[in-house]
Amino acid sequence: MSTRTLGRTKSRNARTGPSPFAADAPALPPAKFTDPDWTAQREPRASVPLIELETLWLNTGTLCNLACATCYIESSPTNDALVYLSAEHAAEFYGEAQGMGTKEIGFTGGEPFMNPAFLPMLTDALERGFEALVLTNAMRPMRRHEEALLVLRERFGDKLTLRVSLDHHTKAGHEGERGPNSWEVGLDGLRWLSEHGFSIAVAGRLLPGEGMPEARAGYAALFKREGIAIDPQNPARLVLFPEMDETKDIAEITTGCWDILGKSPADIMCATSRMVVHRKGEERPRVAACTLIPYDEEFDLGDTLAEASHPVKLNHPHCARFCVLGGASCSA
Ligand code: SF4
Ligand code: SF4
Repeated sequence: MSTRTLGRTKSRNARTGPSPFAADAPALPPAKFTDPDWTAQREPRASVPLIELETLWLNTGTLCNLACATCYIESSPTNDALVYLSAEHAAEFYGEAQGMGTKEIGFTGGEPFMNPAFLPMLTDALERGFEALVLTNAMRPMRRHEEALLVLRERFGDKLTLRVSLDHHTKAGHEGERGPNSWEVGLDGLRWLSEHGFSIAVAGRLLPGEGMPEARAGYAALFKREGIAIDPQNPARLVLFPEMDETKDIAEITTGCWDILGKSPADIMCATSRMVVHRKGEERPRVAACTLIPYDEEFDLGDTLAEASHPVKLNHPHCARFCVLGGASCSA
């Protein structure tokens, strides 16, 4: 893991109090994740080739109406380390992705609906025939665009999916992470999407010690009570993420791990996706390996999608905890 980061600000307007989702592990030993080719034990580090660019993620900018306790990208109402992506820059990448057979454009932030160019860039993606997946907290920034969203729903049907972050199936769990007054408003936004027939999904998390069946049962009860049309057993519609904490100890992934774990590099998110980020102070956007590591130079792969098509060395704790050992994928 590179110790240098690109364009990161300290301006995070963090809420106070510990996150209920914090990973419980000792500190990461400093010798780990230092050499892109070798682990601390001098074993060859695993890498992941780009097999096909199925999903191109666009980071629309880090500004967000919330400042969640463990937001991996450190979004907040003041953090613009990743500036608003313009519709023109998005269009350049759409053009390149069309030539690479990309099926889906994913939009993440911050809160995408805060970017003034978001609706034009979303419409452009759908008009070019891509499927679109929008990650949102479904709060006021999204609700300001109800009319435009209904038009897109009418025009493009299920090609547009909105995935709402509802961190837990309880108000206490959700607000412990997201801050006070975030539960009812977010739930109301999700209900609005469901009532208007949008293709929807929910992204949630597990509290320490909470099992997957228990969490799915909790969300099932919530969806039933609130009349939300999501199958809680469908892993693409209720996506439950493992924890991410780059300061906590985790095993490094070697080339031998795939066989031991019964996994393939092809299962990992960076085998099929990349993310465009526009860092503050840079003239134009660049391409990062994935949605999870937007600031680290080592995971900055280039200026264009073609340039960013080389294999990714798994030299970051997120590669291990979230992707390989946690088994998560960011794509619905
Ligand atoms: S809503 Fe999402 S982007 Fe915004 S602070 Fe929370 S986790 Fe980060
Ligand atoms: S965090 Fe995951 S998707 Fe990102 S580079 Fe590491 S293994 Fe790939």
